[in-house]
Formats: sequence, C-alpha cells, structure tokens
Amino acid sequence: MTATRDEILVELGLTPTWRRRHAVVPPPPASQDGESRSARIASLAWVDFAADVDACTACGLCRSRNKSVPGVGDTSAEWLFVGEAPGAEEDARGEPFVGQAGRLLDNMLAALGIARGRNVYIANVLKCRPPNNRAPEPAESDACRPYLERQVELIRPKLIVALGKSAASLLLNTDATIASLRGRLHQYQGVPLVVTYHPAYLLRNLPDKAKAWEDMLLARRTVAPGA
Ligand code: URA
Repeated sequence: MTATRDEILVELGLTPTWRRRHAVVPPPPASQDGESRSARIASLAWVDFAADVDACTACGLCRSRNKSVPGVGDTSAEWLFVGEAPGAEEDARGEPFVGQAGRLLDNMLAALGIARGRNVYIANVLKCRPPNNRAPEPAESDACRPYLERQVELIRPKLIVALGKSAASLLLNTDATIASLRGRLHQYQGVPLVVTYHPAYLLRNLPDKAKAWEDMLLARRTVAPGA
C-alpha cells in the first residue's frame, strides 16, 4: 500500500504541514484598474456622484481631508466655474468657494446678474483639500480629472470659466500663463471656455480685477449674445 503524502511527512518528522489559509489573488494591473475606475465615473448619474467622490481613495488627499467637496449648484446651469481645490473653510463645510475668495466670486456673479445655484454650477479641479493649501500635484489632478470631465458632460454648460492656472492647465492641457490665455475664447470638448484670474489671486492683486471683469463680460456675451 502506498503511503499518503501526509503519512510520509509524519514519517519524516515534517509535521505539522503548513497550508495557505487564503488564496492569494494577484491585483489587476494598475492600468486596467484605472480604466475601469474612469469608465465607472464616466457613467455616474448625479444621484451617485457626491457619494462616489466621498468614497474615492485614488490619491492621498482622502486621508487628510475632512469633507470632500464635489461641487455645488444648478445641475443644468449655463455657467460652469472651475477653481483649483478646496481650502480650509471649504474642507470644513463640503462646499466650494465659501471663504474669502468665494465671497469675491459671489460678488462677481452678482455683478453679472447670476448667483450661486441659479444657472451656475461651481466645481474644482480637486475635490479634496491639499494640505496647507498647496497647489495640486499632477498625480492628484490626473486622479480627479474623471470627476470634472463627468461634471462637464452631465451639466453640458454653455460656457466654462476656468478660474486660475490649475483649472486652465487641466482643461486646456497647457502650461501657458493666465495672462496669455485670458481675453479670448477657448474650447473644452466643444464647450466655449474663458480663462481668468483666480479670485484668491485677485484679492492680492487688486489692479487685475479690471481685467477679470473684462473676462466676465466676454463670458456673458458668449452665454447671452444679445444681452
Ligand atoms: N479656491 C478654490 O480654487 N476653490 C475653492 O473651493 C476655494 C478656494
């Protein structure tokens, strides 16, 4: 009679035998994982959007943030404003542009005869606050990009206003300065886009407010040519 493998091991004094408790499943290749994440975000409905952003762990910012800041406003707005990233107050409240820069943005909207939540949607390149309000890192912007792309697709605004360098760089795929990009119309996926200074920059550089106002007038002529 042939001895079993276990009997032979006992005979050799090689017991107990060790067995792996859990099968080791190799992780999917990163690109495939990233592709399926992008595909999932690209088909998100509004009802699932904020919860999806809140559950996101695609970059390290999810560990330091308090609240995610998906965006706020009229989901069928003609105007879409895109800033950089939440700051301390936005991170505490979960809403974009609620600090000092936000108050300036609200005043700009009022001067245009529009308001947060009424024909306006406000989003950021990053949905989570970078520590100490540092600029977004390229890997963070890339990880968050599918969310902004989905917001543009869902809203289909008549116009996008890119507020500052981070938004302009991401949406136009350029490293050019705001000074060289402002004052004319661009396109993002078929949607007209105006670049202007970030409100936080305008708070420190008051003379450039006049240029930002010119940009807003260009934006308004684009949304409502006859007005
Ligand atoms: N700056 C931004 O770019 N976004 C905010 O939400 C607040 C300040």
